Amino acid sequence: AAERRDEDCVFCKIVAGEIPSERIHEDDQVIAFKDLNPQAPVHVLVVPREHRADVRELAHQPEQLAHVVAVAGSLAQQLADGDFRLVFNTGQSAGQTVFHVHAHVLASGELAEGEL
Ligand code: 5GP
Ligand code: ZN
Repeated sequence: AAERRDEDCVFCKIVAGEIPSERIHEDDQVIAFKDLNPQAPVHVLVVPREHRADVRELAHQPEQLAHVVAVAGSLAQQLADGDFRLVFNTGQSAGQTVFHVHAHVLASGELAEGEL
């Protein structure tokens, strides 16, 4: 359960199931879903359930941050060949548009069409 929520945050709404998403992983700490506008054959967002603005804030929760990285790694294994890029856009001038921390997992997987 997310103990921190921002009522105006699109990813808090996705976490709560109020906006639909194609979830490919969920556990007690994070959810992962396909990016609406994929930039690679595999493009998944790993999102902590609790609202925090960016990775600088998440760094104060090292277990959650480590869990985000671990989930990214297992999804890259599951959906691609295991190799991946992990990107945290941090701040407006770095291209962050959703101010609820999310890891972009980008990989060039050999996937069947429609799988991801
Ligand atoms: P940022 O630019 O903040 O690092 O990344 C935000 C990402 O979230 C973008 O890649 C964008 O395509 C994705 N995104 C924004 N809104 C939604 C949404 O409602 N659903 C999904 N699945 N992805 C979204
Ligand atoms: Zn949020």
